[in-house]
Amino acid sequence: MNTDDHFSSHSATPEARRWLMGGRVQGVGYRAFVFNLAQRFGLSGVVQNLTGEVMVEAQGEPAALDAFAAALVSDAPPLARPQVISCQLIQLRKLIGFEILLSAVSSQANIHIPPDNYLCDDCRRELLDPHDARYRYPFINCTQCGPRYTLITAMPYDRPNTTMAEFPLCPRCRAEYEDPHNRRFHAQPLACPVCGPHLSFVAARERAHENVGRDAALDACVAALQRGETVAVKGIGGYHLMCDALNPAAIALLRDSKHRPHKPLALMFPWQGADGLQRVRAELQLDAVTQAALCNASRPIVLIPRHADSALPDTIAPGLREIGAMLPYSPLHHLLLESFGSPLVATSGNVSGEPVLTDNAEAEARLGKVAQAFLHHNRPIARPADDSVLRVIAGSPRLLRVGRGIAPLEFDLPFSLPQPLLAVGGHMKNAIALAWNNRAVLSPHIGDLGTPRSLEIFEQVIADLQQLYGVKAQAIVCDAHSGYASSRWAARQDLPLYRVQHHHAHASALAFEADLAKKYLIFTWDGVGFGEDATLWGGEALLGRPGAWKRVASFKPFRLPGGERAGREPWRSAAALCWESGLAWQSDTRDAVLLKSAWEHGLNAPVTTAAGRLFDAASSLLGLCDTASYEGQGPMLLEAAATVDETMGDAEAIDLPLHEDENGLLVADWTPLLHALCRDEVPVAQRAMQFHLSLAHSIVKQAQRIHAHTPFDAVGLTGGVFQNKLLAELAMQQLNAAGFEAYLPQQAPCNDGGLALGQLIEAASKKY
Ligand SMILES: [Zn+2]
Ligand SMILES: [Zn+2]
Repeated sequence: MNTDDHFSSHSATPEARRWLMGGRVQGVGYRAFVFNLAQRFGLSGVVQNLTGEVMVEAQGEPAALDAFAAALVSDAPPLARPQVISCQLIQLRKLIGFEILLSAVSSQANIHIPPDNYLCDDCRRELLDPHDARYRYPFINCTQCGPRYTLITAMPYDRPNTTMAEFPLCPRCRAEYEDPHNRRFHAQPLACPVCGPHLSFVAARERAHENVGRDAALDACVAALQRGETVAVKGIGGYHLMCDALNPAAIALLRDSKHRPHKPLALMFPWQGADGLQRVRAELQLDAVTQAALCNASRPIVLIPRHADSALPDTIAPGLREIGAMLPYSPLHHLLLESFGSPLVATSGNVSGEPVLTDNAEAEARLGKVAQAFLHHNRPIARPADDSVLRVIAGSPRLLRVGRGIAPLEFDLPFSLPQPLLAVGGHMKNAIALAWNNRAVLSPHIGDLGTPRSLEIFEQVIADLQQLYGVKAQAIVCDAHSGYASSRWAARQDLPLYRVQHHHAHASALAFEADLAKKYLIFTWDGVGFGEDATLWGGEALLGRPGAWKRVASFKPFRLPGGERAGREPWRSAAALCWESGLAWQSDTRDAVLLKSAWEHGLNAPVTTAAGRLFDAASSLLGLCDTASYEGQGPMLLEAAATVDETMGDAEAIDLPLHEDENGLLVADWTPLLHALCRDEVPVAQRAMQFHLSLAHSIVKQAQRIHAHTPFDAVGLTGGVFQNKLLAELAMQQLNAAGFEAYLPQQAPCNDGGLALGQLIEAASKKY
């Protein structure tokens, strides 16, 4: 067929077709796209939002319909991810032109919730155009940008079902909203200075400046930042605490008042230069992969190494080599960073470990001692979403935290569930997941479940996801640790409950992401999780596939006095491992004496195999971290300390002996490693490097030994320990060199943030 035939109209008989389009087709300008496409092909018909899907009917020449059908997918707007669910021939009708019908609520819901989108280029251009009606308006948006997940209160995604319902459109905005040729056609968060939300600035000793001139609140905020104050700034998914990233006194003030002496602080860089990255490039070592990650549509925080001569104070990330960097993503951020002119600290506006705050009054009440001022706005946030965090490991960006711009993270399952399942995740870094039919959805990072507010948001997200997707869970999956707040909540619900062992969940999440058809050996290394044998696991290798994991290897167990406290006090792990190895522990403090007595008598000293505690011990023995002020501090400092240069001689892997215990479990003995860590004459950097090399070497050795008598298809590395780029890359290289296919998690975090997804897969595989 000649392609020109598409538009020639003789001979062929007109017909009418109906398509049901699924995937991400709502909140992304899809209906307007269909409308304009139909005009282009000279077709008449209708397009309509159903709950979750878009129905398209068109009639005309078959050739034109064919081309139209192909373009429905191939030419879709950038944010859309359409899929053809069905296509059928229907009766020809008398139609005039192409029409967009009102949304209809359908019973067979197949809903996709769009994530929050960063400011698009078109809107950014208007934001900076003095002749535009929305010049410097901090809430400018269109169908290709603006908030979604944090603004939607119900589906279908129409303005009355968003937190914008309380802002009636002015005539000018309404005209744009109703014009299918306008890029703001049915842009639900549409707003302008006349009809939309606005900023307000509140300083500690002043009354609010509301709307005093267009830029008054913004100017007051910039002035406060320039004075070195901390300002709580309301954004898309919650508040940030912001201060001048180049002012050490401002950073010290924020750290003091937030009781965060060392935890690395994320930075937001101003958009400068042709590609917006000029300032980032001046401070950080951007390569093609980190640059692409930074500019990803989700505008995440990306961990990027700093230049040796960077002007950024060391106190932004003490002892670390990487800086968590992000670009401005909302119009407010663009205006703020442009006015300020240099990077700002932009850390979560929360109380330690809790979900980020979203409500104006609550933020003032709870951050009053941390922030000297507040930049509020009056667009309500329906539910919190912290910034997403990415680290490039082994050449690919890996999500370490699912949040704003990515959540809710949707997955297709290669099987269909008989009933909807809710997975409630772990205790720290909690996120929940929901699965039904052949779909699974992972929520954004909620936080550590130790406080009332965390539990409140945990319950809200569970209720919200079920309501938005129109799914009611018929069973719950939780961690086997019954002491987790998530497990306790699950046990209180009146639904069947399945408990999944922590490391089985980690392994199943990775197997699902990689390829469910394969048989794996998966190293699940983390802090601690209850094992099947009442000891605390965390240094295991599991063989098999989801629903059928067998523990085949582990680190040599040791007694860890102090239990939970050991995670916050790496010196305890160091002392315990020294005593286990018959080495002296050079401390006669009262705490150390008491600890040794507890260790000797096995009092409150559970047996553990956790790799995370080996990292803690090494960090303490090298003098890097005895007491952690944030989770993972010891291991992070250890990774950052590891280097080798010519002056040091070679750091070589130390062989960790393997033996089989009475149950046939392969046990890796860390004792020689401990002796090496205690050799004070060797530079710290070299010992830190040797520690990483030795563990990577042990992974390969364990894999080879197991493969020799029980073959498997691929090796996996997961658990919080593999957030460590150095260890993960060494292990991947050496596994590949030894001929193994190897995987690291990419989409679902390898830490407990991905646990809920693994719980779903593990429970589904066991056919609960
Ligand atoms: Zn836009
Ligand atoms: Zn308006």
